[in-house]
Amino acid sequence: MKITILQAGYCTCPEYLALQGGAWRGIPFPAMFALFEHPRFGPMLFDTGYSYRFFVETRLFPERLHRWLTPVTLREDQLAVNQLAARGLKPSDITRVFISHFHADHIAALADFNKAAYVYLPQAYEAVRHSHGPLAIARGFLSGLVPDNFEARSEPVDVNRPCILPSEFTPFVKGYDLLGDGSLLAVELPGHAAGQMGLLARGLKNQTFFFVADAAWLAQAIIENRPPSAVAKLLFNDPQAYRATLSGLHRLGLAHPDVHLIPSHCAETLASFNTQ
Ligand SMILES: [Zn+2]
Repeated sequence: MKITILQAGYCTCPEYLALQGGAWRGIPFPAMFALFEHPRFGPMLFDTGYSYRFFVETRLFPERLHRWLTPVTLREDQLAVNQLAARGLKPSDITRVFISHFHADHIAALADFNKAAYVYLPQAYEAVRHSHGPLAIARGFLSGLVPDNFEARSEPVDVNRPCILPSEFTPFVKGYDLLGDGSLLAVELPGHAAGQMGLLARGLKNQTFFFVADAAWLAQAIIENRPPSAVAKLLFNDPQAYRATLSGLHRLGLAHPDVHLIPSHCAETLASFNTQ
């Protein structure tokens, strides 16, 4: 399966937010998405990054707070639809969008893919589907980014049918075989947001990618097993679980440096895959 790592916009936040003891200076947090081109299941996405819909949905208060907390920069050529067009793909070609979690920077372009099925862990949607106003903001959720026909087109992961992950991914042992052929395995990454889903994917030349979404914001956090600031933890669904997940990624990275760990917002990681 061909895997292309892309980016649709970025927000700017102080480094200390992502890294305990980090600097006060603002650093870019790119909004990553990935394109999987599967020989049988066609082109599919992992998350979508930002879209102009983010600006529409944050025009008014209290949603405008999103813009203040995470000032967003987005170039037109970075929109997921435009980057796919540059690769000869139409939005309607996308057969599935795998959603790591429902924070705005991961789902802003969902509505652009009008033929895709939406795949996610049911507890992730359950945690946000009834949130509005200040509660939604605290959860990083903008309900207007969820398409009207979202539930009709949803294919939530069947959590009653887990699989055992290959031993190389220890300490992560349980997953979900999303396509039934072992090429894409979902992994629960608790802590950051309820029901956060990471993906293990086999690329060309047998490369292995582990898309870890926001289980860590920077590769450095995984390498140094270094949690984010106390302030950031206030935003997390379960800070203790977040810590355990981060330690798990650290252990996996040490044992298997050949597995590409891809945090969604790490500029350094994305630069190494030539995204812009
Ligand atoms: Zn998030």
